[in-house]
Amino acid sequence: MFDSLKKRFSSTETEELTAHPAGKPDISREKSAELYEKAKTYFPGGVNSPVRAFKSVYGTPLFIQKGDGCHIWDADGNQFIDFCGSWGPLILGHNNAKVREKVTETMQNGMSFGAPTALENELAELILKHNKYIRKLRFVSSGTEAVMSAIRLARGYTKRDKILKFEGCYHGHVDSLLVKAGSGLVTFGKTSSAGVPKSFADETIVVPLNDRDALKLAFEEFKDQIAAIIIEPIPANNGLLLQEKEFLQYVREICTETGALLIFDEVISGFRVGFEGAAGYYQIAPDIITYGKIIGGGLPVGAYGSSAEIMSNISPEGPVYQAGTLSGNPVAMSAGIAQLSELAKSGFYKDLNAKAGEFADSIQRYATAKNYKLKVFHVGSIFWFAFTDKPSIRRADEIDPASMEKFKVFHRELLNRGIYIGPSGYEVGFVSSAHTKIDLEKAKRTIFESLDFVFRNK
Ligand SMILES: *Cc1c(COP(=O)(O)O)cnc(C)c1O
Repeated sequence: MFDSLKKRFSSTETEELTAHPAGKPDISREKSAELYEKAKTYFPGGVNSPVRAFKSVYGTPLFIQKGDGCHIWDADGNQFIDFCGSWGPLILGHNNAKVREKVTETMQNGMSFGAPTALENELAELILKHNKYIRKLRFVSSGTEAVMSAIRLARGYTKRDKILKFEGCYHGHVDSLLVKAGSGLVTFGKTSSAGVPKSFADETIVVPLNDRDALKLAFEEFKDQIAAIIIEPIPANNGLLLQEKEFLQYVREICTETGALLIFDEVISGFRVGFEGAAGYYQIAPDIITYGKIIGGGLPVGAYGSSAEIMSNISPEGPVYQAGTLSGNPVAMSAGIAQLSELAKSGFYKDLNAKAGEFADSIQRYATAKNYKLKVFHVGSIFWFAFTDKPSIRRADEIDPASMEKFKVFHRELLNRGIYIGPSGYEVGFVSSAHTKIDLEKAKRTIFESLDFVFRNK
């Protein structure tokens, strides 16, 4: 995964709920705490995905009861303006009426058939009609599955084994990508999770982001062995490590020159920064694109797409095997169709991105005016609070782990004032189309207050 993996998930102590001097008193978490105790008897760490366990922030996880628009409510009845959006999928906000109605309508006819349905054609057509970077695609059920399949496709197509990834990019929990950099400019990955054989990690080369020399060196060292470079063109899983277009262009060129395929992992950026994702945003054509999150409208859908020629390698047309019992599930397809239909409407992204940009910029202006060490990096409707005074952060090792202490306090103050963001300082936030100007004004005031508290002794 990434270097910060340990820092984020391995802390075992759970902080006591206390009132904090001069901070807002803690909200009631009685019911959530009770549910969490129970959950711990069922699931490792009490959760079904590690970051949910609140290990990097104060207190125990909130159990969510319902969501509507930009708001969520927890089991204790606390209401929050939500900027996590289920980690990205909910670009229209929670419980969007059009998505809900389409899903309910489809469900009247059954849940799954394991046979083709017209709904798969409908979602594919909607995507391909508005995306010039892929010609054919295959639906799967998660981002991880999309990446895993894309890697197999790249290996099958190029008949090469090695994959190059960047430190600071996350691609799901695929074995061969749960690796981090060792010491040195170009390294074989070291596994970042127990249970990943060293021989798998040996097939993965890890280099820093924003470093042409490292890339060049890797291709010299592993000439004709690299099947693909995989990159989050907008790295948003370990802070928001915005890359310069020139670097991404260089990545494209080195792939073209060496016969390696370029995989854009657009599980977050796809349908987020625009309908054509980061490929469209930077106007750079990768060879394979992976999608997840937004594509399923809140239900489990992933996809990978490419040219018709490359996709013809997938079974049953070609030799690269890939399958799924629930792939193209009609209920999930319906949620995707309903959500993406909204996104394809003209002006959708212009409005959303303008609103989100103004939100992020005004927080930055406030912090700058007060001399607070904070940068609000943002692109489209993705933003990241970095407690730093560096003008840019483009590599994972440019994030100061000590800055996460400030994030912890910030997170607690936000929660206690009714703002929900991801429970780790390495996570980005999302603005949805359901956040009104009024919601964002309210959120801004709360964020200002919380920042004042974080920097009270500065
Ligand atoms: C979320 C994410 C994944 C993994 O997707 P899951 O649906 O959680 O398996 C892969 N790549 C990127 C860039 C992601 O943001």
